[in-house]
Amino acid sequence: MKKLVFATNNKHKIEEVSAMLSGKFELLSMKDIHCDIDIAETADTFEGNALIKAKYIYENFNCDCFADDSGLEVEALDGKPGIYSARYAGNHDSDANMNKLLAELKEKTNRNAQFRTVIALILDGETHIFEGIIKGTIAQKKLGSGGFGYDPIFIPEGYQQSFAQLGIDVKNNISHRARAMEKLFKFLHSKFS
Ligand code: IMP
Repeated sequence: MKKLVFATNNKHKIEEVSAMLSGKFELLSMKDIHCDIDIAETADTFEGNALIKAKYIYENFNCDCFADDSGLEVEALDGKPGIYSARYAGNHDSDANMNKLLAELKEKTNRNAQFRTVIALILDGETHIFEGIIKGTIAQKKLGSGGFGYDPIFIPEGYQQSFAQLGIDVKNNISHRARAMEKLFKFLHSKFS
């Protein structure tokens, strides 16, 4: 099995992506390669941040790896919180982030939003970029308690429930991360089948 490092410390993401891989590749976390630093995401785009993380692992651990950067982009807020999604309300507190966003959208009729993921893969020293998007709307209030981040207030297009209510199986089929990962895995399969 091909070994690939997923440059993240987020156990929710490792869980989500392991489920998608279904045994075709061996997914290693940063913890698995004994890398316990928090790589600073200092770029001003998702792509830039994904590249910083992937390059750090590739250059310091010399292994094939990929990293992602994602966020929520709200139309009425000109794409905010975007790259600031994790710390929108000042610290890494999902409840505070959602409260801030709901307050900002209180008077807005346009509640369109999208989650976007960009993945940077470094394979044999070459960089490849993949993107996934899921469009939807921001709910009037938090719905459900599953998932993480903004899941309770994001209703994906074609559904009546939030990501938090829909659960991980549904989310894994349609999410921004799933769509970007699908492109990544298609690329890997075309290379290694
Ligand atoms: P990351 O770059 O994937 O870690 O995402 C940055 C932030 O965007 C997270 O801390 C969450 O606040 C938000 N986010 C990204 N993906 C999701 C998701 O699938 N559900 C809910 N929030 C997400």
